[in-house]
Amino acid sequence: MWDKNGKSMIISVASGKGGTGKTLVATSLALSLKDTDGVQLLDCDVEEPNAHIFLKPVIMGSEAVAIAVPNVDETKCTYCGRCAEVCVYHAIAVLGNHVLTFPQLCHGCGACSYLCPEKAISEEGRKTGVVEWGQSDGVGFAHGKLTVGEAMAPPVIRKVKEYANNNGTVIIDIPPGTSCPVVEAVKGSDFCLLVTEPTPFGLSDLALAVETVRELNIPCGIVLNRAGVGDSKVEEYCQKEDIPILLTIPLDTEIARLYSRGITLVEGMPEWKERFLVLSGRDSRDSK
Ligand code: SF4
Ligand code: SF4
Repeated sequence: MWDKNGKSMIISVASGKGGTGKTLVATSLALSLKDTDGVQLLDCDVEEPNAHIFLKPVIMGSEAVAIAVPNVDETKCTYCGRCAEVCVYHAIAVLGNHVLTFPQLCHGCGACSYLCPEKAISEEGRKTGVVEWGQSDGVGFAHGKLTVGEAMAPPVIRKVKEYANNNGTVIIDIPPGTSCPVVEAVKGSDFCLLVTEPTPFGLSDLALAVETVRELNIPCGIVLNRAGVGDSKVEEYCQKEDIPILLTIPLDTEIARLYSRGITLVEGMPEWKERFLVLSGRDSRDSK
């Protein structure tokens, strides 16, 4: 599927919607490649990270993630309104002789403090989440956790991605959907695996996810999960759009049982390791 040519590769595992088996694929792919490549798994699904449930990493460190939000010194402020004009996120407003800030809306871009003519705005950190990193049986691991009630996922995602090393394969578990956090997590990837299921909802969300990765010029392939549950529309769509289906995982109660117990597919059913190696363009002869 992808060719390393001796360089580090970043492989995203995404899906148009939650619950399609994205983490099942990401974790089993990481474990299948750990003997052939140096592998890291970065869980950027920061609202609901769950790769750790399957990989059970030893957490070796953590780092808080904060964004810089404005703090206005009204003794210097002339209420000119420039800060509110430049804030595209409507996170600061000037009402008469008051400046109101809305930290939950602030993206920490710094434009207001930079452009304030009176230098009345300083910046203060607001914690939005935490990144934890560690190791899981030969797989490097990092994940982000967005603070409960916090909407600003991209800074936490960016911080998780800073833990990517430049050796071997980096697998990124992408948040579900096609919004800003998805774009932040997937951009810079060399390849994107899109996990879907053969249902009308699966197809509709897949088509949106394909549009997103195409906008970003990232080549993609499909993992069809729970094959047998629906119809053949996803296959027809992939054929029409010339997108390869790289792996098919059947609807299987044993696979569902393993997943519900937090056991990866390749650990519970080792015969799947070879299929994940083939998916990645390797085979068992590449394993040490
Ligand atoms: S730009 Fe500066 S001086 Fe103008 S209203 Fe905002 S904080 Fe006050
Ligand atoms: S830092 Fe950026 S997003 Fe936040 S209030 Fe200032 S201009 Fe708006």
